[in-house]
Amino acid sequence: MTSVKPATTGERTTFDSLDPATDEVVGTFPVHAAADVEAAVERARAASSWWAGLGFAGREERLRRWKNVLTTRSAQLAELVHAETGKPHGDAMLEIVLAIDHTAWAAKHARKVLGPQRRAAGLLMANQAATVEYQPLGVVGVIGPWNYPVFTPMGSIAYALAAGNAVVFKPSEYTPGVGRWLAESFAEVVPEQPVFAVVTGFGETGAALCRSGVDKLAFTGSPGTGRKIMAACAETLTPVLIEAGGKDALLVDADADVAAAADAAVWGGMSNAGQTCVGVERVYVHERVYDEFVAKVVDVASTVRAGSDASAKIGPITMPAQLSVIRRHIADALSRGGRALVGGEDAVGDRFVQPTVLVDVPEDSAAVREETFGPTLTIAKVHDMDEAVAKANDSRYGLASTVFSKARGMELARRLRSGMTSVNSVISFAGIPSFGGVGDSGFGRIHGQEGLREFARAKAIARQRFRPPLLLTTFDRSPKTDAKVAKLINLLHGKR
Ligand code: NAD
Repeated sequence: MTSVKPATTGERTTFDSLDPATDEVVGTFPVHAAADVEAAVERARAASSWWAGLGFAGREERLRRWKNVLTTRSAQLAELVHAETGKPHGDAMLEIVLAIDHTAWAAKHARKVLGPQRRAAGLLMANQAATVEYQPLGVVGVIGPWNYPVFTPMGSIAYALAAGNAVVFKPSEYTPGVGRWLAESFAEVVPEQPVFAVVTGFGETGAALCRSGVDKLAFTGSPGTGRKIMAACAETLTPVLIEAGGKDALLVDADADVAAAADAAVWGGMSNAGQTCVGVERVYVHERVYDEFVAKVVDVASTVRAGSDASAKIGPITMPAQLSVIRRHIADALSRGGRALVGGEDAVGDRFVQPTVLVDVPEDSAAVREETFGPTLTIAKVHDMDEAVAKANDSRYGLASTVFSKARGMELARRLRSGMTSVNSVISFAGIPSFGGVGDSGFGRIHGQEGLREFARAKAIARQRFRPPLLLTTFDRSPKTDAKVAKLINLLHGKR
């Protein structure tokens, strides 16, 4: 059984990150206490003015260089991701590639999205030149999970940096090496100031970051921790961005490409051993294609094997505690009338979980309602797509979803209560600028325009161009002026 072990070496408390496939120590890291976190934030605050002072062009140039470092050394980073999470090298590369692409987007678009924009001042204020611009917040705290230790936190880190903020990042205790690697590679292109720092440790270190006086806290992890983060941040009215878990559904319509849908369901549900926030966990299939779809899913899922050898398509369960959750969901489903067409209770081992496909599972069972975070799928038959939408939406979560339909893809996508939907492909939205959920899946967005604006504050400036004929903002305003204003507003807005 793997674990993250706290240990005391000399005066400092440290912990080891372990390879979940072998328990080999990947690295030893300090458990940063509240005072360490506060000191890191203080240093970052001093650095933030310097970084903001570089302006959009200066920051773009540094972020482009960082992107180049990430690209040329991606194999090394992928090896570290593989060692700390257990995921296959190719999957590690995939998340790195997406993170690089998003970093490039943030660097390239920051000026356009955040720079001064002219606004129409309106007839009453026609003498004013109006602009809105988006200024940096200062220091952004980022707390990340282990399942996509590059892609996920980089959605906040790269965008916060591009918006002109300094960042203090607390990576998951399962992937501290990846966090440190990211900060060290950034320091190679920004050696002057500690613009991007990493603190390591467990939940207490994260809680200290929430209370450290950062100007915003961007959290990615489970909804339970998200609630604790909000409570801690509420003490200082620190705004939060919450990217939490999901129970994503995939819908298959009667006219869908069934083979493509089956392939997408298996990859969406089982890649990264199902440890994907936007992984497919539930499938609702039109009764006309149900049998054909289930047969294809069984065929494809039977070719997927969890292991640590080169031919294994999925790796171990990174966080040992998750094994009992997966076991409980499968056992509950089977004890309540569900059937395992692939895998089953025996699929859950000490480190690895083999693919499991469940059918006839009651909608109120844990396997349908709670995030499983393992390589499992539940498949249910529906009479029509209205039933599919209703069942998909009957969830506390609302992260992402998938629709396979030839004629009604966009219509069904719009009706799904989730922050993102892919039509006729799976998880494609991860590479597209705008990511985030609703309900227990959190709020706020990373990536894209919305992602840049999450890490900036709007600043409106009205500059008087000439003295107005009707001066409104003075005690010298006469009753005659008031009457003219009343007449004007009536002319403008009083007509039906
Ligand atoms: P987690 O909530 O256990 O931990 C996330 C981070 O929070 C870790 O760094 C942890 O040390 C820290 N933390 C724990 N307690 C804390 C506290 N009291 N105060 C401050 N920080 C604290 O989540 P996890 O197991 O690392 O990640 C898996 C979860 O993340 C899943 O639910 C998954 O769906 C979700 N996730 C969501 C997204 C998304 O973008 N929506 C992406 C990846 C993962």
